[in-house]
Amino acid sequence: MEQVDTLVVGAGVVGLAIAAILSEHQDTIVIEQHSQFGEHTSSRNSEVIHAGIYYPQNSLKAQLCVAGKGLLYTHCQRYHVPVQQIGKVLVATNESEIEKLHSLVAQANNNGVTDLQFLSTCQLRERAPEMNAVTGVWSPSTGIVDSHQLMLSYLNKLSQHGGHYVNNTRFIKAHFEEGHFVVTLACGEEEFNLTCKHLINAAGLFAQACASNIDALATHHIPPLHYCKGQYFSYQGRHPFKHLLYPMPEQHGLGIHATLDLAGQLKFGPDTEFIEQLDYTPNEQAKPRFVEAIKRYWPKLDSTRLQLSYCGIRPKLQLQGSQDFVIQDYHHHGIKGLINLFGIESPGLTASLAIAHKVAKQVNLERE
Ligand SMILES: Cc1cc2nc3c(=O)[nH]c(=O)nc-3n(C[C@H](O)[C@H](O)[C@H](O)COP(=O)(O)OP(=O)(O)OC[C@H]3O[C@@H](n4cnc5c(N)ncnc54)[C@H](O)[C@@H]3O)c2cc1C
Repeated sequence: MEQVDTLVVGAGVVGLAIAAILSEHQDTIVIEQHSQFGEHTSSRNSEVIHAGIYYPQNSLKAQLCVAGKGLLYTHCQRYHVPVQQIGKVLVATNESEIEKLHSLVAQANNNGVTDLQFLSTCQLRERAPEMNAVTGVWSPSTGIVDSHQLMLSYLNKLSQHGGHYVNNTRFIKAHFEEGHFVVTLACGEEEFNLTCKHLINAAGLFAQACASNIDALATHHIPPLHYCKGQYFSYQGRHPFKHLLYPMPEQHGLGIHATLDLAGQLKFGPDTEFIEQLDYTPNEQAKPRFVEAIKRYWPKLDSTRLQLSYCGIRPKLQLQGSQDFVIQDYHHHGIKGLINLFGIESPGLTASLAIAHKVAKQVNLERE
């Protein structure tokens, strides 16, 4: 039976980052069920490098987003990953939102994001022309990244360290015995076993399903999973956006915001909709809601230029309230060598390297 120090399940941006970092010190394999890496959430997002503004102080999201942002900019420069520190404008569209904007700035400060600046009317008009805003805040550290190239760079780092990426290989189950895991994998119809000391479950929307097939893990450690769809409309034609533009956040997301990709394509979204099945089909019927939300900050929107684009799905752990990333190690579930990552929604892309370093620390502490 093949043996490996660490098996990472899931080649999304988080699993690949973890595999890239862990492979510096140990024999590492990352497996992916599909023929391509990153086909789920990691290629269905806004590709924004978040500053770390919104998250509750001391939450994993706040800590790992702020740390991850710095690590990501450095990594992108070093590995020539296309990235642009384009900045974003947060806008209050009426008097009642001003207080919310001030509390976001205070929240950001608590999280160590100290570079936000209130914009004068003149600066606001210059950075966000045509926008309906009573006041605005500038976030200079927000950026955009090519998520596919980022994942490729993690893969390159993994192979430079002698680690392996194996596609078309599905995690089926794991049996824990005498300090190691006997893992059953499937390649097509064929099943085979492998042993590993460390098993990292980074399966994103499938993390709960994988966890439920690890025999030693008590079911009460597996949180519920709720699919929360977020879809986008792209905008064809000329537009005035030079930076990303965000309205005030909503309960489950950041509000239907305006982002640009590295080719300059403008898109709006994502919205939030809880769904029962994993289904990436975008829904044209959402258009009136998009038009209404966008017109609140961009009244001149020509809605005929909005085109249905793509969807992503957030792995929510609860239907109400804010939730944090859940990264479970030995101290949570008592199984040496097992790390489960649940609920890695936004800002998981931004935080990917910081998550990877946290997991590496947990693995190395367990090794000692
Ligand atoms: C709409 C939306 C917008 C977002 N925007 C941003 C943003 O702008 N900035 C930001 O920082 N974050 C953003 N995020 C969050 C970010 O995209 C995610 O946190 C990140 O992509 C999660 O990566 P992952 O590797 O955990 O999951 P995934 O990308 O889902 O990867 C998990 C992988 O595991 C594989 N897998 C699952 N089960 C098995 C199995 N049994 N065997 C083998 N392989 C398996 C899957 O096929 C998949 O490839 C957004 C998310 C959404 C939904």
